[in-house]
Amino acid sequence: MFKLKAAVFNGKRIVLKEVPKPFPEEHQVLIRVRAVGICGTDLAISKRKILTPIPIIIGHEFAGEVIDEKTDLDISWIGRRVTSEINTNICHKCYFCKRNVYSQCLERKALGIHINGAMADYLAIDVNLLHEIPNSVSYEEATFIEPLAAAYQTFEMMSINNDDHIIAIFGMGKLGLLLLQIAKKKGLETIVVDGSKKKLELAQQLGADHLINRHDNAEVPRIIKNMSEVGADIVIDASGSPQALKDVVSSCRSRGKLHIKSTHGEPTRINLTEIVQREITLYTSRCGPFKKAIDALKSNYVIVGKLNTHIYSLEQVEQVFNSYGNNKDHIRTILTNY
Ligand SMILES: [Zn+2]
Ligand SMILES: [Zn+2]
Repeated sequence: MFKLKAAVFNGKRIVLKEVPKPFPEEHQVLIRVRAVGICGTDLAISKRKILTPIPIIIGHEFAGEVIDEKTDLDISWIGRRVTSEINTNICHKCYFCKRNVYSQCLERKALGIHINGAMADYLAIDVNLLHEIPNSVSYEEATFIEPLAAAYQTFEMMSINNDDHIIAIFGMGKLGLLLLQIAKKKGLETIVVDGSKKKLELAQQLGADHLINRHDNAEVPRIIKNMSEVGADIVIDASGSPQALKDVVSSCRSRGKLHIKSTHGEPTRINLTEIVQREITLYTSRCGPFKKAIDALKSNYVIVGKLNTHIYSLEQVEQVFNSYGNNKDHIRTILTNY
């Protein structure tokens, strides 16, 4: 039997393992995975903060080439460069599906979380989940389609109105830097907050108007209030840091919009009393529109190339997870497989 390499969470840690090669079933294609990003979700799985079946192949931010397919398909996908939706097994019948909210489908199974994912040589997946990658977008860049779609969803959940001028984004990791670029394109004045000088410099190159280094400034909300009179109109938390949430809430103006984008993988304290007293509207969001993200990459509307700060091969996955997060300038790691 053909074997393939895969990054498997065995209940204790991520290991590189040989597993049987999948075969495309009805309505499926087989993808040779070329690049896959590591995201906060993968890290949370590896620390057992997000519970999954065990063992499981992780990974959902991927790009690859279709090399085989079941013969029942209307058109052939062989040779095409693709990524796929993260939400699989969509029922098209439940309360949410009837309202086109597939990310909350009651039967949904997320790739690399509920079912085997893409951090492997090969992935078999339903053809109706595929998206073709434009020729001008590399496999490495295309691994951003899923997180960029999620960044778009952040803005789709909030209606920005005439009183919204200033946005503060906490955390200049992968998501923060994507959110920043979308916010700029929406004409918002941007304040970005992070503890890494390198990340703030990159944010500035990508158009950030004001930079605040958390390490040098103990009173971030006060600085933001000085810049904006009453606080930022919109505040997004993309820091993934429970400690930052106090400042995130305090930096938002009364009657402003507060969007918690990061998941923390565990229950987290937030000052609801302050949110209620100051009549702040709380938003959350997760998966988003892939088509919008693909168009943005194709037209260079959003720049992602510089955000892959660490590139390794799939074979190095164990060492990557062992040392993950040790570098505060780290933005994103991808694993390639050529
Ligand atoms: Zn992700
Ligand atoms: Zn459904």
